[in-house]
Amino acid sequence: MGWELLQGQDAAVASLQRDLSAGRTAGAYIFYGPNGVGKASAAVLFAQALQCTGEDPPCGACPACGKIERGVHPDVITVQPEKDKSTGKDKKTIGIDPIRDQVLHRAHQRPQEGRRQIFIIDDAHQVTLAAFNALLKTLEEPSPDTVFIIITPNLHALPQTVVSRCRRLRFRFLGREEQRRILEANLDGEAVDLDRLISLSLGRLGKAFGADSEALAGRRESAMELLGGLSEPPGKADEAALILLAASLAGGGGQSRVEVLEFLEMLLGLLRDILALKVAPDVLEPWNVDLQEALEVIGSRWGIPGLIRAMDRVGAATRDVGEINTNPSLTLESLVISLRPTVGEGE
Ligand SMILES: [Zn+2]
Repeated sequence: MGWELLQGQDAAVASLQRDLSAGRTAGAYIFYGPNGVGKASAAVLFAQALQCTGEDPPCGACPACGKIERGVHPDVITVQPEKDKSTGKDKKTIGIDPIRDQVLHRAHQRPQEGRRQIFIIDDAHQVTLAAFNALLKTLEEPSPDTVFIIITPNLHALPQTVVSRCRRLRFRFLGREEQRRILEANLDGEAVDLDRLISLSLGRLGKAFGADSEALAGRRESAMELLGGLSEPPGKADEAALILLAASLAGGGGQSRVEVLEFLEMLLGLLRDILALKVAPDVLEPWNVDLQEALEVIGSRWGIPGLIRAMDRVGAATRDVGEINTNPSLTLESLVISLRPTVGEGE
């Protein structure tokens, strides 16, 4: 048990282990890097290592390690967003109230039963600027018993004043071989097409484990259909059919906003592969290896500047659907219309 659970993040783990063995942990850490590669697991292991009462921290077996694993240790606090009073669901942002109630009111108290008080702020890009500002003084002059672990996919989404006060640890995308090794070790002989699973999860292991691979496969097929249609030579592409396809992807099947976002993510991943195959096939391995030929055919009709523009537009549509309350089906339709001219651009 312990750090070996976290694979493929040797640099980040080594850095945490150095801090632990030197007894010189920072008051605040930022774990950043893509989703699903182990940042949250690393936060739990680090918290266990700090509180562990066993032989070889994190032992995974002592009462402290067990409580942290179950999320019930009184000195390891994962900051939760408030509930929206009208819907009863978690708010999308972490405002000043949860930071004050869950963090600031406690940050200068003594730990209740552990050696440290550990605050974990996951999805920290959702913390509002006002809430970060409220936190700043505590980050600047942390009590020696307190450790913050701030987790985000995107370092640049955090205020520079916060970033500069934290020790930053980068978590990286896992290589295909690393993913394969980890999946093989964990799936324990289950009959799974590993290459296909890795491709579908776009290189993020957390997603591969929880993958509903049927749904992902369907989404990938739709995205390929859309890209194939878009890249038809001029005169052959049927714009009306493409827009109908976009509409059915967005809402025809009653998809949720999350499903539309996953579709857009899939589309972006495929465009990324097309670009990788065009730019540096020897260096950048496509995630969707099994589609390599089809992707090369689509890519042959696309120039590099056009592809980059297309990726930008898919990214913008993702933001629109995710952050602004746009109608997903309208966004997808206008995305299709705006993608069409990027084909052939720069060729
Ligand atoms: Zn332990």
